[in-house]
Amino acid sequence: MLSDLKEIGIKNLSEIYDLKSRESFVSLYINLEKTNERFIEKRKKACRSVLKGNSELTENFDKTMQTIEKYLVTNDREEGQKGHVIFASNEHDFFKAFKLGLPIEDLMVVATSPYIRPVARLIEDYETFGLVVLDSHRARIYVVSSGKIEDKNRIAKDIMNKHKKGGMSQARFQRLRQGEIEHFLKEVSEGMVKLFSKDNVVKIIIAGPGEAKILLLDFLPNELKGLLLDLIDADFDEADGCLVSKAEEAVRKDEKETVSKDVARLKEEILKHSLAVYGLNEVIDTVKNGQIELLLVSRGDKLSGWICEKCQLFDSGIKDKCPNCSGKVAEVDVIEKIIDFAKRTGAKIEFVDDNPILQDLGGVGGLLRFNL
Ligand SMILES: [Zn+2]
Repeated sequence: MLSDLKEIGIKNLSEIYDLKSRESFVSLYINLEKTNERFIEKRKKACRSVLKGNSELTENFDKTMQTIEKYLVTNDREEGQKGHVIFASNEHDFFKAFKLGLPIEDLMVVATSPYIRPVARLIEDYETFGLVVLDSHRARIYVVSSGKIEDKNRIAKDIMNKHKKGGMSQARFQRLRQGEIEHFLKEVSEGMVKLFSKDNVVKIIIAGPGEAKILLLDFLPNELKGLLLDLIDADFDEADGCLVSKAEEAVRKDEKETVSKDVARLKEEILKHSLAVYGLNEVIDTVKNGQIELLLVSRGDKLSGWICEKCQLFDSGIKDKCPNCSGKVAEVDVIEKIIDFAKRTGAKIEFVDDNPILQDLGGVGGLLRFNL
């Protein structure tokens, strides 16, 4: 079975770390669509030579890799599977593997905690949405999650033909036909409520030829209307895959707009010296305190730094020991640590593509919760 991104449980993963800040967790992302047989071997060799000085860590790494490789050999590729995501640590008796139907980049990270950033990015890119395609008498309702159709429902009604039948006045015929169409639209709306509430849909797209999609709006309860993202033209009989791609395009466009709006809000709040933080130190402090509601991160940014094994203090740059408690430090990607803390405290994360404003601010910024 392919896994849904939700099943990966990114919040739980963000709470797991080596208490002594040693590099004891292996995170492996494998793209199954490209041939990359040598990737694991190559990374394994490189990481192993770096860990060589520490026999404890080397032993853990070897055993962890054995478990991972055994899993990869014994688990066949599922239909539609595009990648593997594995988090493992022999020492922590920890192993989680997921088969994804989404494209991912090859990556192997050995670190003090599971490396969740690529998953966080996928979650942002593939939000769960609801899709309806309808004409005047047929409808298909879908929930699309992690890029695949999760749930589906069909509704079809016999509705009187447009041409008047004999023995009935034109007015009466129209009334009856109108009534049937309304009944159908009501049923579609009820079907949407039922399916979408079950799957926590937060965005809706309505597709189809002609006017039916506009008529449907009148029958939607307000809570669904509020989730409507777009109405798109499509043939009713268009293949599922085609429809989903079209809808995904609309979702992506909307997400881009949301990100631009949030960057604009960050700018505004900074100018007002109000509910925004920027600059590494301030972002680290507020994210640790759980004050950040929305974290904006320049996509792909990395920043090398250190983390203290005792007090979990972290910062950019290089340190021999912790300036706070003199504890031992390990190398980390500071941006990744910020993302970990943001996830732990329930903040939303947005990855921003080449935005000069955010880059000038050091690649990270945060909008603060109102109640603080
Ligand atoms: Zn410390």
